[in-house]
Amino acid sequence: MIQPDEIIRSKRKTLAISIDAFGKLTVRAPIACSKERIFAFLQAKEGWILRKKAERTGAGIQLPSENLHGYALLLLGKPCKISVEKTDKVGYDSAQQRIILPEKNTKTRLVRWLKENAERILTDVTAQKAKEMGVAYTSLSIGSARGRWGSCSGKNEIRYTFRLLYAPKPVIEYVVVHELAHIRHKNHSKSFWQEVERYIPDWKIRRKWLKTHGALMEIL
Ligand SMILES: [Zn+2]
Repeated sequence: MIQPDEIIRSKRKTLAISIDAFGKLTVRAPIACSKERIFAFLQAKEGWILRKKAERTGAGIQLPSENLHGYALLLLGKPCKISVEKTDKVGYDSAQQRIILPEKNTKTRLVRWLKENAERILTDVTAQKAKEMGVAYTSLSIGSARGRWGSCSGKNEIRYTFRLLYAPKPVIEYVVVHELAHIRHKNHSKSFWQEVERYIPDWKIRRKWLKTHGALMEIL
C-alpha cells in the first residue's frame, strides 16, 4: 500500500497528489475527506506514483562519476540526498536524510559506504531469518552484481548486491527469505513459494517493489 508522506487538508473539493524532487509524496485533500477515500485514490494512482518516485529519486538515471553533490538516491526506501563537503570521512545525517561525502574519490567512497552498510544490515537480517526458518547457510557476501538482488549457491553460499540497501526493509527481508528458502528448495517450485509465504505472507507485494524499481540496479 502506498503511504503518503504528508496529507494537507484545506477547503478544496478534489484530491490531488504531488511528488517533489526527492520523491516526497504529498496529498492535498478536502477537510472532511476520509482516510479510506485517500488510500483508494492513491491505490488507483499507484503506477504513476511509483514511476514518478523512481524518476525523482534518480532511479533510471546513472549517477555521474564526479560531482555527485545534490543528487539523491534511495536508502532503505527513503530518498537521501548526497552532499559533497570538505571532509575526509563519510557521514550520515539521519535528521536531514543526507549522506555526506568527501571531495576526493567521492563515488568510490560512496560505494564502499553502501557496501559496508548493506553488509551490516544483511548479515543481521539473514542471521535472524535463518534462525526463524531453521536453516543454515555456509557464507554471506556482498557483491556489485547488477542482474540480481541475491543468490544462493548449491553449497548454500548466500550473495547479495549492495544495491539492496536502496530497498525498504520489508523488501530486503523478502530477498533474504527468498535466498534462505533456496537452502531447502533449489528451484522456484510450488513448495519453494510455500516456504517463502510461510515467513513472508505478502511476498508478492514486496517482490513487486523490486520489479518496479529495477532501474535502481543501474544508478550506481
Ligand atoms: Zn530464487
